[in-house]
Amino acid sequence: MFYDKNNIFAKIILGDIPCKKIYEDDSVLAFEDVSPAAPTHILVIPKGEYVSFDDFCKKAGDVEVSNFFKVVQKVASQCGVSGSGYRVIMNHGDDASQTVHHFHAHILGGRNLGGLVQGDIHNR
Ligand code: 5GP
Repeated sequence: MFYDKNNIFAKIILGDIPCKKIYEDDSVLAFEDVSPAAPTHILVIPKGEYVSFDDFCKKAGDVEVSNFFKVVQKVASQCGVSGSGYRVIMNHGDDASQTVHHFHAHILGGRNLGGLVQGDIHNR
């Protein structure tokens, strides 16, 4: 799939759109979701141009992939949900209802999230 350089997360990485930053390093940024589906709802994104989980795993190097998931764990721990539990969601494509086409992992926690598939994570 074509990477649109004007997608909203590309603009957040550039600082053109503000975000509530949780974590940043050279290759990864984490920030609060603007429309939280749970008390804790953080988005973790690579700074590289990847459309989705599928694209990221195909194109990124082993070190970048590994570092990304290490950051997801670190951010979840930093947000205080490791003890109570949390869910990591990475939507890829239409059937997963991916709306922003820059790869991102959702970290959701702070309440019991119920069953695995609920139709729409934006319902709360
Ligand atoms: P997706 O449905 O693509 O997996 O998730 C995209 C997420 O991005 C949604 O949870 C949505 O609330 C979030 N989002 C969309 N636009 C913005 C924005 O401008 N700022 C932030 N912080 N989150 C956004």
